[in-house]
Formats: sequence, C-alpha cells, structure tokens
Amino acid sequence: MTETFQIEIKKAEQSRINEVDFANLSFGKVFTDHMLVCDFFDGYWHNPLIVPFQNLSISPANVALHYGQSIFEGLKAYKNIEDEMVLFRPHGHLERFNRTAVRMGMPQVTEELFIEGISELIRLDKNWFPKTSGSSLYIRPFMFATDDTIGVHISLQYKFIILLNPVDKYYSEPLKVMVERKYVRASEGGIGFAKTSANYASSLYPTKLAVQKGYHQLIWTDHKEHKYIEESGTMNLMCIINNTLITPSLSDSILQGITRESILTLAKDWGMAVEERKVTVDEVIEASQNGTLTEIFGTGTAAVVAPIILVNYKGIDYEMPGLEGRIFSKKMVETLQDLRKGNIKDNHGWIYKIPV
Ligand SMILES: *Cc1c(COP(=O)(O)O)cnc(C)c1O
Repeated sequence: MTETFQIEIKKAEQSRINEVDFANLSFGKVFTDHMLVCDFFDGYWHNPLIVPFQNLSISPANVALHYGQSIFEGLKAYKNIEDEMVLFRPHGHLERFNRTAVRMGMPQVTEELFIEGISELIRLDKNWFPKTSGSSLYIRPFMFATDDTIGVHISLQYKFIILLNPVDKYYSEPLKVMVERKYVRASEGGIGFAKTSANYASSLYPTKLAVQKGYHQLIWTDHKEHKYIEESGTMNLMCIINNTLITPSLSDSILQGITRESILTLAKDWGMAVEERKVTVDEVIEASQNGTLTEIFGTGTAAVVAPIILVNYKGIDYEMPGLEGRIFSKKMVETLQDLRKGNIKDNHGWIYKIPV
C-alpha cells in the first residue's frame, strides 16, 4: 500500500460548462470537466488522479472487453437548502461496490478512494450542479479489468473511474410492464445481486422484445418456475396490498437496492406493516383485480419511485391502480426529497455532507 493517500489534480485548461444546455439535460449524456482515474497493479491501488474528462486508450486484448470483469455504482449528489453539497448513503454504495467486486474476482476499493474521490471531484466541478429544483449530479463510479492478454483469467490490473453527470429531476412516465416467463435476468448462485455489466447485457434482448410489443420493460421472475417476482427492469419492485408494503425478499438473484432499503426503513418508521418475502405474480394480479392492491412501483436511484400502471401476464393486460390514489408513493418521494434538502431530520445518518 502507498503510505499516504493523495489525489493529484490536473485541471482542464478551459471549462466546457458554457456549451451545456442545462434546460435540456438527458440522463447520461453530459459529463463534467473532470474525472477521477485510479489504477490497480502490483497488488494495490496507486494514488488517484483527477484529469480532464477524456477518452481512454486500452488494448484490443483488454480482458474486460472479452470476459466481462466490469462493475459499477450509481448515486447522486444534491444541494441542500443551506447550499451545502450532500451525498445520499455513499457508504451503502461503497459496501455494495465491494460486495460486487468480490463476486467478480476484483479488488475492493478503500473508503478513502471511493468517498474522498467522489468528494474531491465534486468540489472541483461544483459549478456543474444544475440549478432547478430536484436536479442533481449523478455519480458513476466503475471499475474494469485492464490486463491485455486474452487468456481467461482473473485480471491483475484494474482501472477505477468516477464520472459526474448533471441530471434534471427524473420523471418516470407511468410504466407498462410485461411479466417475463422465458428469459431470466439472474439465477440462484449467479451474479444477480452484483451490480455488474453482465446482468445488463443479458437483459437487453428480452427487454427489446417487450418494447417491440409496446411495453416499457419487464418484470423478471424466478428462474425455476417463473412464478415469483424478482425485479422490474433495473429497479426493485414493491406493491401495497391491504395497506401492507410488500417486496420480494433479497436473494442472490436480486440486486440490493439502496432505495429499496430506504423506503422499507421509512415505511416502518411510519408504522406501516412491511413484508419482505416471496411474492407470486398470481398474488399481485389477483390483488389488482379484487381492489386490495393500491400501489405498485419500481424503486431505484434514478427515478426513486416509478409507478407501474399496467402488467401483462400470460398474454393478458391487467390495469393497475391509477396515479391519483398513490398516497404512499407521493409521500415517500417527498420525504426522501426533504431529507436530501435538509428540510427534515436525518434520523438514519443517510446524508453525507461533502466537506468543503
Ligand atoms: C442499481 C440497481 C437497482 C437499484 O438500486 P438503487 O441502489 O436503489 O439505485 C435495482 N436493480 C438493479 C438490477 C440495479 O442494477
């Protein structure tokens, strides 16, 4: 290990900020002036560098391209009412990144590299916070193998990079989803719990087929019987039946969402009944038909809550409750926003103020 952690900064000569149309930000397209890059070789992480955002140069024999050792995180930085810069649960994202790294045979990163790295980069590019209410800086830390030999092996070298992407308040249009009964996203013993590129790769084609049929995304089911709900698209899934908040229990085929966990915790704080258990598709369809299901939605960092208004199951479209009656979802979105803004007390230590 290096004795002292230090981030070296090479500043961009000129900012690109004036070229950006902040009134029309679409997710993932615009990046701030700088990025953080850190290399792992000889068994440890060397000191990170912050450099102008730029293309990378890698060998065509790069093993991540061939065999997929590639992982990522996604979290957000916000400005609170005091104009301080805050992160939402960065340590939870760090833990998940490292859990993912272990499963993919990759080195873990230190808290310093992850949290200090994000903080330093944001301090440098702080002018890039969009000004509109609900907007944020989306943070994309990721890591991939950089060995340049195409024999199958665990890479000995890696790159860890952090990018910042200014994003507007994310509005999820009400979703029409199709229950997938042929393809699977993840299976027992696999990598479904890991935030790795491979899970996305395997979901693209089945999702495309659903989109061609007029749906926005899929509801993934278990790999054995296609009977139990797992996730929806790239979000965790929740519903409210008889005033109980219900979500599939975690397993190695379900991604442990930070938003999922935050919503469950707040719902319990509010005295609501919460169940984490196996949830069958049949149960959800039946509850939607007999009126006991009042809300169904996906959860994730990007949208926070994405309402589902239609579910296709075995070729039949079932209407889900309309948006008007979704009192829980509305209150949850507002509460999470108030927490980030600093309007209400942060009882769980979720808000991390970036030291200035
Ligand atoms: C990232 C992700 C989620 C949501 O996680 P959050 O921490 O809430 O953003 C859910 N499912 C999958 C497959 C994911 O990759």
